[in-house]
Amino acid sequence: MRAFVLTRYGGPQAAELRDMPPPEPGPGEVRIDVKAAGLNPVDFKTREGKLRVIDSYALPVVFGCELSGVVTSVGEGVTRFRPGDEVFARVAKHRLGAFAETACVGEELVAKKPASLDFVQAAAVPLAALTALQSLRDELAVAPGMRVFIPGGAGGVGTFAIQLAKHLGATVATTASARGRRLVERLGADVVVDYTTQDITTELREYDAALDLVGGDTLTQTFSTVRRGAKVVSIAGMPEPLTATQDLGRGPGLAMLFWLASAGVRFRAWRSGVTYRYLFMHPSGKDLEELAALIDAKKLEVVIDRVFPFSNIADAFDYLEKGRAKGKVVVSMG
Ligand code: NDP
Repeated sequence: MRAFVLTRYGGPQAAELRDMPPPEPGPGEVRIDVKAAGLNPVDFKTREGKLRVIDSYALPVVFGCELSGVVTSVGEGVTRFRPGDEVFARVAKHRLGAFAETACVGEELVAKKPASLDFVQAAAVPLAALTALQSLRDELAVAPGMRVFIPGGAGGVGTFAIQLAKHLGATVATTASARGRRLVERLGADVVVDYTTQDITTELREYDAALDLVGGDTLTQTFSTVRRGAKVVSIAGMPEPLTATQDLGRGPGLAMLFWLASAGVRFRAWRSGVTYRYLFMHPSGKDLEELAALIDAKKLEVVIDRVFPFSNIADAFDYLEKGRAKGKVVVSMG
């Protein structure tokens, strides 16, 4: 099979397309003829070695986190799928393998592809939509009437998060540049702050919850937009004074802080009365089924920015790494 392989940690040259033998499904796994795979910032962060402390791989490794395709065979003990099923999945963190013509995935991570989506659209869903769902539903417990601030609404996670927060009954504020304003408004954002010209700390006050998708200064400022007793969840970086832990290569002490945060330890933010958590999404076939139902019910739209042929996956990386994608970037196996 053709696969995009991480050969060492580093820049774009550290990954290459190669021929290699296809994987065989182990017990509990399904083998999938991959039709499309989604790209995510975690892919280039993995390539750069930024996540080595939490996810290290024996190189070379086929990387890639999410896919859609058709089941071609099943391993021992698989009960939920059979050959011919059209599926999508966020693959296991310890195994990866979505950037390939064939992949094996544990059946508990797989769900039937939404009937209303083609394979390219379905491959864009798992990682970003699971992140949005798990943050808003499980961590922030978004409920009707809540006012939720989602900095960074125009990207892969944001386009799902705005829609899911609206679906859960919230009033939603987000940030976008002029390039993303129309998109986030169409997806349901009630308040849009242009982060390139406006100050969120004066535009937004007393929000009940926030899901930060940007990190850095944006996350720091987000604490001033929420009320006492609010929860802030972030997925893109730690607030000060934990910012240093973003560089996970710096040593075991900082890594441990990061681990504690990701394992659910809540840090009291310096603005008293606000609870903060860094969240890692987790792969889940069950949650994907919930998302598929919302998609087929036309409650959730999949926004695709650009599709590249698999043979041009390096260009897809280059595009995503510029950080300006509106919705998702996907490669199609053709
Ligand atoms: P994208 O690359 O899709 O985000 C690109 C978008 O971000 C663009 O539309 C851009 O809009 C917008 N943007 C860039 N800078 C800003 C800013 N300062 N303020 C507001 N918007 C901005 O990324 P994803 O949505 O896929 O991921 C977002 C982050 O979350 C990444 O850091 C990713 O690694 C992380 N993540 C973490 C997960 C976890 O489990 N912890 C899971 C998934 C993602 P414009 O062009 O208008 O600037």
